[in-house]
Amino acid sequence: MYELADLYQQLILDHNKSPRNRRRLEEPCRRALGYNPLCGDRVTVYLQVEDGAVRDIAFEGTGCAISIAAASMMTQSLKGKSVAEATELFRKFHGLVTEEDGGGESRAGLGKLEAFAGVHRFPARVKCATLVWHTMAAALKNTAELVTTE
Ligand code: ZN
Repeated sequence: MYELADLYQQLILDHNKSPRNRRRLEEPCRRALGYNPLCGDRVTVYLQVEDGAVRDIAFEGTGCAISIAAASMMTQSLKGKSVAEATELFRKFHGLVTEEDGGGESRAGLGKLEAFAGVHRFPARVKCATLVWHTMAAALKNTAELVTTE
């Protein structure tokens, strides 16, 4: 178990050090702004949706290692997915980091996102991990307002 936890930690550190898809997308695109006042994480998610699928996704932002790694890994896992799949993955990810489901939810399809499984043990960090997902969901709905985790 320790080795697995270690590997996951490496993954998070790596994505924080060299975030993927950290850029601005050309207009027109959907976007939303997220803010986690508890930690100070700020993130903008850019989305290009075509025919019900995520054609391109990117983010910009500043924050703690967890929030940046979550943003980086989210963009990687959502690119090419359908809007329905993206929404479903958000639900699973949320279940994973909050364990509101008691850990009984199937983790199938989460892939590398399982690296965040340990986050539920640190309640203050849950919002860091979910901020970018809430922001992505707002961008999907094309909500203009600021998303906060409060
Ligand atoms: Zn944070």
